[in-house]
Amino acid sequence: MNELQKSIIYLNGVGPNRHSLLKSEFGINTIQDLIYFFPNRYIDRTGFYKIKQLYNLSIEVQIIGSITKLRTIKSKNKSRLVATLMDETGSIDLIWFRGHKWISPNLKLDTPYVVFGKINKYLNTISIPHPELELLSSFKTKKRISFNTIYPTTEKSINSGITQNIFRKMFHDLFESYPKPFRESLPTDLLKYHNLISKDLAIRNIHFPENAQILVKAQKRLKFEEFFYLQMQILIKNNKKKKIKGYPFLNIGDSFNNFFHKHLSFNLTGAQIKVIREIRKDLGTGRQMNRLLQGDVGSGKTIVAFMSMLISNDNGFQSCLMAPTEILAQQHYRLIKELSENIGIKVRLITGSVKKKMRKPILDQLKSGEIHILIGTHALIEDPVVFKNLGLAIIDEQHRFGVAQRSKLWRKNSLPPHILVMTATPIPRTLAMTLYGDLDISIIDELPPGRKLVKTVHRSDAKRLSVFNFMKKEIKMGRQIYIVYPLIEESEKMDYKDLMDGYESISRSFPLPEYKISILNGRMKNHDKDYEMERFIEGETQIMVSTTVIEVGVNVPNASVMIIESSERFGLSQLHQLRGRVGRGNNQSYCILMTGDKLSADSKLRINTMVKTNNGFEIADVDLKLRGPGNVMGTQQSGLINFKIADLVNDNDLLILARESAEKILEIDENLENKSNQCIKHTLSEIGTFKNIWNYIS
Ligand code: ADP
Ligand code: MG
Repeated sequence: MNELQKSIIYLNGVGPNRHSLLKSEFGINTIQDLIYFFPNRYIDRTGFYKIKQLYNLSIEVQIIGSITKLRTIKSKNKSRLVATLMDETGSIDLIWFRGHKWISPNLKLDTPYVVFGKINKYLNTISIPHPELELLSSFKTKKRISFNTIYPTTEKSINSGITQNIFRKMFHDLFESYPKPFRESLPTDLLKYHNLISKDLAIRNIHFPENAQILVKAQKRLKFEEFFYLQMQILIKNNKKKKIKGYPFLNIGDSFNNFFHKHLSFNLTGAQIKVIREIRKDLGTGRQMNRLLQGDVGSGKTIVAFMSMLISNDNGFQSCLMAPTEILAQQHYRLIKELSENIGIKVRLITGSVKKKMRKPILDQLKSGEIHILIGTHALIEDPVVFKNLGLAIIDEQHRFGVAQRSKLWRKNSLPPHILVMTATPIPRTLAMTLYGDLDISIIDELPPGRKLVKTVHRSDAKRLSVFNFMKKEIKMGRQIYIVYPLIEESEKMDYKDLMDGYESISRSFPLPEYKISILNGRMKNHDKDYEMERFIEGETQIMVSTTVIEVGVNVPNASVMIIESSERFGLSQLHQLRGRVGRGNNQSYCILMTGDKLSADSKLRINTMVKTNNGFEIADVDLKLRGPGNVMGTQQSGLINFKIADLVNDNDLLILARESAEKILEIDENLENKSNQCIKHTLSEIGTFKNIWNYIS
């Protein structure tokens, strides 16, 4: 047995009690676990740093500088005190969120201080929150020349007397008893190429840093390793998965050709053609397709989906298209039915509100193969829905579907159907690589011609009158308008009231008979919702007042204005989705972000980002930085992004390097048989099944 796999009970100073506590509190069972139990803080008081040295450090340090500026910044009911500290190399903000009433009067300007605290990096600025300050003139250096590590603790670990010193002693003993180097886990060439230090040096320095510079190198090496092995596992699983058998769709036949040559009313964009080719090729391999189709809102994914279904049909298979909401399912249904009319394809809709009586014939015809395409909501994956031979399943706006639901689809035929997942929420490449390692990705990166970018502006509530006037002008030109109110579950009642108040005020300013208004909210019965939506789609009403139920996918090309009320309460991807509801026709469209006067820094950044760019990928990047990967992706996948040391947002570049390295190695040596890759094979076998990635991804 590998020595590192031994229980920590064999270490000096670890008895059964401590062993069981470390296991229950921190999951530390083996020596290997212990080695990878990293400090979460470092305190360097061995000397003084210059401000310009602080950018890549996330440790606690001492600097010497003078405060040149002091100010209180108010936002909402909070305020913070900000002091600008300067030395000869640069400046950094010291920030207090609490207690500044008594801190502020005691601070001396233009007087050298010793400042101690943790460097905080937010986007591209650095600051020190709640620093310790001492006048340089009274600062005593004794006792302050240590470089300390601080390990994570829990209440129980503290109560059981596991102090920081005990942690340090444990590691000290461990390293004493392992004087030989820790086995290297990355090939030498790779280390050299990426300028990474050895595992042994990294491990020893992560626990006992000789200095801050080598600590940074140790962190880099271990982060790279963590990303590298995650990517290795994903890629290896992918290679296996790519071998899953699927129905080969070899024919491009009448329905595809007929539609393409005779009934398609516009020219496909280059990006659409490229993506259809990718899909067509993938469907023909005899392996199951698992493909993610990303394309910004309005990029024309639906037609790609439809043409893929025609390929399925040409090969004698049925297809289904699953949408996250009833409204969307209906919209898809209407459109696809229309497109299918002249080419002899039978389409049906199944949703929760399709009555039992109506359902029976649909289910029968589905089973007999009479229905070629089934559109629906979740209802479509329920057990009573049986296909004759489902060949292709398309999922629209996949982020709303859980893993369990996706896997239900797999079981609808003897071989799993091909899967195409469509999303309009661009996911940063790094996240996609990590979370959707099992999916091939096709991207539509081009909008249909003639589309004008949506002009986005920010207006405070005080400007409402001029916004109303603008609306009237647009309506006069025959356009339609959305007004969206937030809906956040915790305050549903309040939100509902806001919506109804808003509706009333709009009704007053836009009176009948000249103006007609639709309203849509989550409390309405489905058939009432449909009725209202229908009126808006048909152009009978000019204004649609709604909560976010219209968020995804709704397509009314004549709508040219999207007004988002209390837009500071929306997340970025939601704002982007909402904005995507306009700009779908040939008219210049507008998105107006209404907010109160006082905005938090995050809200400001969100609003400014929206005003600045229409590019969904750029927006996704900012969103990821603001909210962190866990929130962006939802808890379902968070297990995969719980890194020990790496950080998906801040270590982006390393992730890409790690991915590329792993790809390159597997390309040359798929089964890791080369001598130089034995260390990888060995490490992978050690990792074994500790983390079953497919629980998170498939
Ligand atoms: P999304 O990618 O957001 O789902 P849709 O598929 O709803 O976008 O397409 C948006 C609109 O663009 C639809 O009205 C659709 O008919 C139209 N459209 C799609 N592709 C093209 C194209 N190549 N040329 C012109 N219009 C197109
Ligand atoms: Mg769509």
